[in-house]
Amino acid sequence: MQRREFIKTTSAAIGYTTMGVGLMASITNQTTATQRALIFDAMGEIREVYPRKLIREMLDSGLNAITVTLCDPKTFELEAYDTAMEGIAHYDRLISKQHDLYMKALRTSDINTARKQNKMAIFYLFQNSTPFGRNLELVDTFYNLGVRSTQITYNYQNWAGAGCKERTGAGLTHFGIELVKKMNSIGMLIDLSHANMQTMADAVDASDAPVIVSHTACHAVYKNTRNTTDENLRRVAKKGGVIGICQIRPFVTNIRKGAFDHYLNHILHAVKIAGINHVSIGSDRDHRVIEMTDEYIAELKREEGNNFDASHWPLFIDELNGPRRMEVIWDGLKKKGLSERELEKVMGLNNYRIYKEVIG
Ligand SMILES: [Zn+2]
Repeated sequence: MQRREFIKTTSAAIGYTTMGVGLMASITNQTTATQRALIFDAMGEIREVYPRKLIREMLDSGLNAITVTLCDPKTFELEAYDTAMEGIAHYDRLISKQHDLYMKALRTSDINTARKQNKMAIFYLFQNSTPFGRNLELVDTFYNLGVRSTQITYNYQNWAGAGCKERTGAGLTHFGIELVKKMNSIGMLIDLSHANMQTMADAVDASDAPVIVSHTACHAVYKNTRNTTDENLRRVAKKGGVIGICQIRPFVTNIRKGAFDHYLNHILHAVKIAGINHVSIGSDRDHRVIEMTDEYIAELKREEGNNFDASHWPLFIDELNGPRRMEVIWDGLKKKGLSERELEKVMGLNNYRIYKEVIG
């Protein structure tokens, strides 16, 4: 999600849900389930404005690794290249400024190092392949700067393929096949979020390595152009891939009250279709508490004009609107009947496994 949001963070962000969980843990020397498990968000937001208390809260909730989007994916050609370079410089700076809390991750073992040091491992992702243009050497250039995964497409057509909002059903282009092979050859993870279903199918078939769809939901549970069909869930899984279920409410359901239950149903459906080894969490969300104030809604209306559709707001799911959401998902899935081992897979190990297999 790259849509502009007016965000009001307050000290409430720090007190989100069970402030006591981490506190209690340190007092009693006990650890919580999400602190013991490896928790990995396949795609989420880390912003410069996050206060240190918020980052500590995320860490205390057990979040060990996260993949971030480096730059605006809606850019093409030279602008895409420039913003990609700026994005890398921005995140390198952000991480080094908070180096006691964050760690730039280049290989999967960095997650283990980060965990030992109570830091968050941060992997770099492009949500579009446009920074490469038609020059495959740039895949090496960006890999060398730390980029470990890239989406083949964003919402529309690019040199490599068609996105989910493109008007035709065209799939991967000849260049797209070359790009897939190139990414395979250097160990860059192929992400098929935002691809249309044909591009997704083509890329899975063309790839020698497992692929990820880091932030999507299930089309069979709720119809949305960003969601993945059962056919493609099976196809991705058959190749050893992983599907991350996102927390953008309008992709999950059009209702607000009870949206969390719908979210859990997307995860359970993906598990049913793709299997327990192929589903993960890819929040696609800010980790602060976002408040839907009257002022905020009025501002949205002004900005969106006639396009304002109240059913699309808020973007967040109430129960997941904060830094300790992984605990909430763990508990929710446990209540739905997932075992401890199954929870560990969905909450982190499946992402860990595919990263290990592809990037090393
Ligand atoms: Zn996205």
